[in-house]
Amino acid sequence: MIGGMPVISIADPSLVVLVGAAGAGKSTFAARHFARDEILSSDAFRAIVGRGEDDQAATKAAFAALHRAATRRLSAGRLAVVDATNVERHARTTLVRRARAARVPAIAIVLDLPPGVVAGRNARRAGRTVDPAVVRRHLAMVRRLAGGGLLEGERFDAVYWIREPAELDAVTVVRAVSRRA
Ligand code: ATP
Ligand code: MG
Repeated sequence: MIGGMPVISIADPSLVVLVGAAGAGKSTFAARHFARDEILSSDAFRAIVGRGEDDQAATKAAFAALHRAATRRLSAGRLAVVDATNVERHARTTLVRRARAARVPAIAIVLDLPPGVVAGRNARRAGRTVDPAVVRRHLAMVRRLAGGGLLEGERFDAVYWIREPAELDAVTVVRAVSRRA
């Protein structure tokens, strides 16, 4: 905290892994704190390799392309932010491995907001809304991470939790230039 403001400190380069339910505000957060070229969004890659941002059939190819892009950026010494739900352990461990291979830190930022807030934002969002049952499943998965400290066992170099809407709006992201591990 600096003067009461929550601060997320990020090595540059590093791999930043956003974690949160659909509608939690990952893309909004990414756009606010990171440059456009730094953000690798699963929806954007679905549109690139498939028929559009919600082409679920393109998921596998989209993540393959996203992972390749992440590795390419990290190997070139550029920060990458993965804007996907990352609620499944397998999704996160794959990304941590990529960061390790590129010898940069992996940092998780978990948007663990109250379920009512996320459900409300999902219901009110312009354009695509996500099936409320899917959102509830994501929320339950994030809650399990919070309760059991599971993320801490996944070899992230740092894990930041954002639990309140006010915290989400107040947080600042600061960067520290890092040498390769
Ligand atoms: P998905 O996983 O489906 O891509 P997401 O986590 O990227 O979801 P966003 O698209 O960023 O979520 O946000 C969902 C909705 O919540 C949007 O309508 C957005 O405007 C709203 N929202 C996001 N962040 C905030 C915030 N800090 N304050 C108020 N509303 C917000
Ligand atoms: Mg999004």
